[in-house]
Amino acid sequence: MQTPLPDYLANVIEACDIDNSGHLADYIPELANANPNRLALAMSTVDGEIYSVGDDDVEFTIQSISKPFVYAYVLQQLGIDAVLTKVGVEPSGEAFNEISLGKDGRPKNPMINSGAITVHSLIQVKHGLHSAEILRRFMSELAGRELSFDESVYDSEVKTAYRNLSIGYMLRTVGILETDPVDIVNGYIRQCAIMVTVKDLVRMGSVLANGGVDPRTGKRLLNRSVVRQVLSVMMSCGMYDAAGDWLSTVGIPAKSGVAGGILGVLPGQVSIAAFSPRLDEHGHSVRGIDILERLSRDMGLHLMEGTPSAQTIVQSHYRTGKDASLSVYVLRGVLKFTEAEMLLRILQDETTDQSTIVIDLTQISLIHDVGKRMFLEGVDRLIDDGHTLVLVDPEQRLDHARTGKDRELHVYHDFDDLLEKHDLPAKKKTYSDIAALLNC
Ligand code: GLU
Repeated sequence: MQTPLPDYLANVIEACDIDNSGHLADYIPELANANPNRLALAMSTVDGEIYSVGDDDVEFTIQSISKPFVYAYVLQQLGIDAVLTKVGVEPSGEAFNEISLGKDGRPKNPMINSGAITVHSLIQVKHGLHSAEILRRFMSELAGRELSFDESVYDSEVKTAYRNLSIGYMLRTVGILETDPVDIVNGYIRQCAIMVTVKDLVRMGSVLANGGVDPRTGKRLLNRSVVRQVLSVMMSCGMYDAAGDWLSTVGIPAKSGVAGGILGVLPGQVSIAAFSPRLDEHGHSVRGIDILERLSRDMGLHLMEGTPSAQTIVQSHYRTGKDASLSVYVLRGVLKFTEAEMLLRILQDETTDQSTIVIDLTQISLIHDVGKRMFLEGVDRLIDDGHTLVLVDPEQRLDHARTGKDRELHVYHDFDDLLEKHDLPAKKKTYSDIAALLNC
């Protein structure tokens, strides 16, 4: 069996191929020479599998899709608070190259040019490397291959960068930029001239989708808080003055670039990239938007659809032992806020006595931080009520169990571990079997 996903993606681009509307970006002369018929689509799952169709090996300049990654780089280096003193996070409702500032004197957000030029100015030059070279290396690490600059697009944009230079001078005048605006704007234009394919983009995006860890290498490249900040700003500001429309129709944090690329990142699920050079009036790829709209609709990827809780956490509960004094809870699924609340509500019915409670987490596939905190709080309260708690936690995900109550709290990796620690015969295989031996 071959997974049908590539066929599905091929059908999507085939359906979008017929739309020839829109225009090539011509304010950067070299982009006006692009082949307008190019069309590519790629998707990366959160565990790093990449599917791609169409012109998936064709390189194009990343342009404004660099902005979220440069923002991530600078946030990672300087911390969120320091960056916020220079650039806000409010949607501007204006075009990407508007010469404007927020009322507080900062560029409104890092996705429009004034914010992105400011973010670029915050790169701390190291080892004598140019800021754009630092970014090329950073993005190459995210993409898993050496990326390069398109020198002709860079030259062509630098020669005609009147608008970005006026933004730079405006930022220098108000003190947001602290050094020569020409150098900074040139560095920003060079960051936009890094060449990528749709496969590179989804690989870079998968690090964001995966909370900052490269799913292929397992290496953490960005802090979780940085990723959350970047995706939030992509959601509210990534599509410029079409951001509200995008949120309601597609609902995937995204960023577009004037070479025709568009990258969407759905946290915890997928990253999607499309490439087609003809643009609409906002500077977004016409067919790229169509593709993302279709994928969001067909595959239920809208962020606001959320992931419904499985509405179950206790797979089974039974009492066993002498006078049914051993209470066993076998949990199943994911332990997030909703499930933890449900579990605590169920545990509320445990009577206040000296009984032993076994909670078996062997079949819990994921424990979210809030789930863990709530669960441990519940464990604490059960101990306060006089119970002895036995937790079976194979992956030792509850290693921060509170101290001070160790006498009443026993944590085991699995059932065998429990038997071994109590010197119980290995043939005992159920909690009912061992209840008597545990003195219950
Ligand atoms: N380099 C382009 C500019 O600054 C990027 C714009 C975009 O891709 O939206 O004008």
